Amino acid sequence: MQSNAAVKVVKFGGSSLADAEHFKKVADIIKADPSRRYVVPSAPGKRFGGDSKVTDMLYECYDRVVNNNDYTDILDKIKERYDLIIKGLELNLSLDKEFSAIESILSNRASCDYVASRGEYLNGLILASYLGFSFIDAADVIFFDSDGLLDSEKTNKVMCKKLSHYEYAVIPGFYGSACDGSTKTFSRGGSDITGSIIARAVEADIYENWTDVSGVKMVDPRIVENPKTISVITYSELRELAYMGATVLHEDAIFPVRLTGIPINIKNTNRPDDEGTMIVLQAPDDDVRNEITGIAGKKGFSVINIVKDMMNSEVGFGRKVLSILEKYKISFEHIPSGIDSMGVIVSSALLAESRERVINELSCEIVPDCISIEDNIALVAVVGRGMVESVGIAARIFKAIGEAGINVRMIDQGSTENNIIIGISANDLENTIKAIYYEFDGKENS
Ligand code: ADP
Ligand code: ASP
Ligand code: MG
Repeated sequence: MQSNAAVKVVKFGGSSLADAEHFKKVADIIKADPSRRYVVPSAPGKRFGGDSKVTDMLYECYDRVVNNNDYTDILDKIKERYDLIIKGLELNLSLDKEFSAIESILSNRASCDYVASRGEYLNGLILASYLGFSFIDAADVIFFDSDGLLDSEKTNKVMCKKLSHYEYAVIPGFYGSACDGSTKTFSRGGSDITGSIIARAVEADIYENWTDVSGVKMVDPRIVENPKTISVITYSELRELAYMGATVLHEDAIFPVRLTGIPINIKNTNRPDDEGTMIVLQAPDDDVRNEITGIAGKKGFSVINIVKDMMNSEVGFGRKVLSILEKYKISFEHIPSGIDSMGVIVSSALLAESRERVINELSCEIVPDCISIEDNIALVAVVGRGMVESVGIAARIFKAIGEAGINVRMIDQGSTENNIIIGISANDLENTIKAIYYEFDGKENS
């Protein structure tokens, strides 16, 4: 839809827009390259350890309204955050009208999503004013369907048409409109998805995602100090890692750009010259295939352990188990099984509400010899496009975990052989990730 000139979509996360000083860095980055035309801001993040993200404060505000508690002090604090930014940027801008509107909607029991979306909306107004760019409300260009899912085609059509009238624009991240016209947000971290939707609509050459780290690291830098940066990662590898806890990019952010193969470049707002990580459809021909690309893990899983003699020869056994989980809207993560036993790994949060009913119904329907639920399970994903071609990776992973004295509860390997999932006790999560990282880091090119 655009002319031949390069077009870049740039998204800045909350940590990149937490205060006026960061806004200045962001503006320098944008102004340094005229092809950075469409800008997606998140809400202000934490300025220092112990500080609050504005989005979290907005959720708190909503909770107070629901529980009939006074929310004015927290709303005042939020307004203070924005006023400080406006003052630091010496802008002639007032958000008084916007805050009165939020207050009146809050006292009329606003929806949770509406309240949460104001973080990005207000930051977008400030950033557009500071850059001298047009402001486009995401509610006018991003749409969800009646199932609450992104309506990709309608969104793409409307977004494409709208942006063709603007050379430079700021579009706030994280939200859009539900099909009844109310405001709806993506899940947490969803501004990454907004950026990707816009990159698709304007057929961007690149989607730059600016954050507070110089790219996707082999492991979470909060677990291992100064881990290696991944220079190139494929969309599918990234998705595996992001889903399992590498929160640097929302796992669904690859879908809109994957359709046309637009690369995503993760960059550091505080170190703009660092190359960061390129996320691409396919690794280049001269790809250096490290044995593993990255490791991520998360807590919060439970295993439903089912034991029954000869379950493997009972036709329909698996279907019966899964249909009961389906009834309670519980999706499963993995199903490691033997001839007389099966473990179904599910999110503990999803199971919480119906755990007794699930056990009772499974007991009646499949008449197991034994059934139990084990909580506090963590999953670790070891991901790598090079794994399929390297012999002995699994042996090295399990040797490293064994030497760290960690008991493995479950193992699963995806059919594409680019990941190995390991279930362990939640207490062992950090040590497992460290043990695997140190086994591979530094040894892979030796
Ligand atoms: P933003 O506010 O820019 O959206 P996020 O906090 O959502 O930033 O994501 C960046 C953070 O993701 C980093 O500060 C880091 O703590 C965390 N993170 C977790 N896993 C990884 C990883 N593998 N590589 C880089 N960062 C990671
Ligand atoms: N501000 C939202 C959040 O904190 C969305 C985002 O940052 O991407 O989840
Ligand atoms: Mg984020």
